[in-house]
Amino acid sequence: MNDILHESVFTPLENDCKALGDSIRGRLIHSLGKDPRIATERDWLHAVALAVRERMLERWIFTRRGYQDASAKRVYYLSMEFLIGRGLINAMLNLGIYDATREALAEFGMDLGEIAELEADAALGNGGLGRLAACILDSLATQCLPGFGYGIRYEYGMFAQEIRDGIQIEHPDTWLRYGNPWELPRPEGLHPVRFYGHLITHYRANGEAQHFWEDGETVMAMPYDLPIPGYGPGNVNNLRLWAAKASRDFELEYFNEGDYIGAVEQKNQSENISRVLYPNDASQAGRELRLKQEYFFVSASLQDILGRHREDGHTLSALPNHVAIQLNDTHPAIAVAELMRLLMDDNDLPWNAAWRITVKTLAYTNHTLMPEALETWPVELMTRVLPRHMQIIYDINHRFLNDVRHRFPGDQELLRRVSLIDEAGARRVRMAHLAVVGSHHTNGVAALHSELLRNTLFSDFYRIMPERFVNVTNGVTPRLWLHQANPDLSRMICKHIGDGWIRDLDQIAPLAALAENAEVRAEFRQVKLANKRRLADYIAAEAGVRVKPEALFDVQIKRIHEYKRQLLKLLHVISLYNRIRDGQADDCVPRVVLFAGKAAPAYIMAKQIIRLINDVADVVNNDPIVGDRLKCVFVPNYGVSIATIIIPAADLSEQISTAGTEASGTGNMKLALNGALTIGTLDGANIEIRDEVGADNIFIFGLHTDEVEARQQAGYDPRKHYRENPSLARCLDMIASDFFAPDEPHRHQAIVDSLLHEDRYLLLADYAAYIETQNEVDRLYREPEDWSRKAILNTARMGRFSIDRTVREYASQIWGIEPRSVKGQEPKNA
Ligand SMILES: *Cc1c(COP(=O)(O)O)cnc(C)c1O
Repeated sequence: MNDILHESVFTPLENDCKALGDSIRGRLIHSLGKDPRIATERDWLHAVALAVRERMLERWIFTRRGYQDASAKRVYYLSMEFLIGRGLINAMLNLGIYDATREALAEFGMDLGEIAELEADAALGNGGLGRLAACILDSLATQCLPGFGYGIRYEYGMFAQEIRDGIQIEHPDTWLRYGNPWELPRPEGLHPVRFYGHLITHYRANGEAQHFWEDGETVMAMPYDLPIPGYGPGNVNNLRLWAAKASRDFELEYFNEGDYIGAVEQKNQSENISRVLYPNDASQAGRELRLKQEYFFVSASLQDILGRHREDGHTLSALPNHVAIQLNDTHPAIAVAELMRLLMDDNDLPWNAAWRITVKTLAYTNHTLMPEALETWPVELMTRVLPRHMQIIYDINHRFLNDVRHRFPGDQELLRRVSLIDEAGARRVRMAHLAVVGSHHTNGVAALHSELLRNTLFSDFYRIMPERFVNVTNGVTPRLWLHQANPDLSRMICKHIGDGWIRDLDQIAPLAALAENAEVRAEFRQVKLANKRRLADYIAAEAGVRVKPEALFDVQIKRIHEYKRQLLKLLHVISLYNRIRDGQADDCVPRVVLFAGKAAPAYIMAKQIIRLINDVADVVNNDPIVGDRLKCVFVPNYGVSIATIIIPAADLSEQISTAGTEASGTGNMKLALNGALTIGTLDGANIEIRDEVGADNIFIFGLHTDEVEARQQAGYDPRKHYRENPSLARCLDMIASDFFAPDEPHRHQAIVDSLLHEDRYLLLADYAAYIETQNEVDRLYREPEDWSRKAILNTARMGRFSIDRTVREYASQIWGIEPRSVKGQEPKNA
């Protein structure tokens, strides 16, 4: 008998050019049913993707078997966002089949580069938080760690941004229009998720109350699995995304009334839950549908995790020995109440046992201190949508406050501050408090951020349970952000010091010695120049601006937000423009200033900032006095794929948030890794980047966190800076006087008013120091040997900011998991 359960029935596919060519042709004809004569480039894309996918699936199966057979503890990373980007090149590089696949395609007369461009970005995230989740998945697989992602399969991801007449226009992101070759739908793995309804209480013989949640609406969560291949190749882990499907009896009451159309409308309603990603970055949406999205994916994921745990034959009390669950921000914090509900109501565990298991299983990552970003839900809404959870949250709060009262008698204020319920005004549930109380660790994402968590936002909790607070500084994957995005630099580094750094970024350190070698510096400058040419071509095509690749490429690429201070960068642009017009710009180097980033559609000020950037760009780029000395460009539709074009071409990385506002930043790491010098404030991970690259190799300016705090306490007056700094006043006057918008008086009044009357983020206070530091940047850029030495040192000293170091810290300090590499399945590489 052919034993299908035995490993010998699996035969790894060959990875040489011929085998890949056969696979691609086979997939085109036998899976897609396309005649090669009429196949479009997109058909070829899907055929290649399927050929590559075939080479992951056996490792994927064996990875799962390996974890199961070893009874390995697993981590589940719960995140509302995974900002993944494209899959094809990444999978080919991680599996080691890039060259062979490219050759195979060339034999069919197809160009891999062109085909790969057709793939839509999986943009299931807003920015840094979602990209961190994607980097963590890459690292877990590469390091052969048993780790899985859980999220939502949004039908529409991050909106596509068009810039029309300087204004942001949003378009729906129809990324699934042509199908997604990477995903495997699992319609057999549905879980029901309930909303609304009501509670009933039974009393046991011993008088104990038992609660049941009944009626309401049930929506089915359907899993879609995405294989995540590690580099090397490492293991192939899984990302499971949930889509909402109407439950099969959705139609009953309508059908009974003969209302067929009504029944189908109802079906559409329930499937809206996974329709669209909320495009808010650093501010909370507060809408009922958002709460339903959060609960939907948390409930489905926890049911799935408990089901697997049971199948593995473990008891629920052993859950924390086998399972760690990481909550990426508070978006999945309802997991605290949901895990309690599943353990108590569905599995009959008593409160204390359920609570011990819940706290020992969950951990929480905080991503922000900003008050407008902290999630709270009205008690009224939570009671209506999730009545049982509201009741559990009250019970958690009751017990927690009793403990605190016991330990800190008489401190009523403390109780009010740490309560899970904000009682001021209409009562609200504080999700961050729920996450801290219901988990064993809370971490910040950079040293400064974690310190501020302990001293400000969570200072009371830190006093009550100091052992719960840790730091895990963010990182980025060197596979995507250097090896894949910057192939020329990757090749150059590999030529000199080998390729060990791709899987262990500490091994990039020996590059530092080569910074002293003039030939290496020349080589580095050539690579940078080629990348700048590529970007210049892209800008000409997409933004219609011609720029000189020899200029200093100065980039600020990130979500548009007041705290990130794109306006401070723009004040520098206007100042440079004025110097040129005054004939005082002899000591300035030619610059191309690039902005890219999306504004949340409802964030009026952020959209206004985009408009002003484009208005300024219009004037500067078309003033004949300026010529090539200054160009200002807004690159539309920033996302992972566009980041991979801009970052390798950057000379200067703008990381200029007000000190104390940017939790970590990861754009700062990607840019420094690619040999851009940073100009930045002492904020987020910039501080740790300075510590690594050395204070001589980074431009630091501006107020420190404590100084920002002191200014705000002392009643900060932005007009003082306006009065005392004529060059600053001139810039603001130009914006106010409609110099940049002659056809519409007062178009930018709101920006000037906000800066002169409040200036919440202290742009004016930091302006003078920023301009002075930018002058230093110019001086250094005039010395190409000095500049490129420092740039190479930046690349060489970024080892600490590998996501692999981040993930190892989570694994040892928080998750308690260990690597399990899949053996005996090494694919045969050509
Ligand atoms: C890295 C990244 C971010 C985060 O950038 P920050 O500068 O850290 O805010 C946002 N969007 C995309 C597409 C990214 O790749």
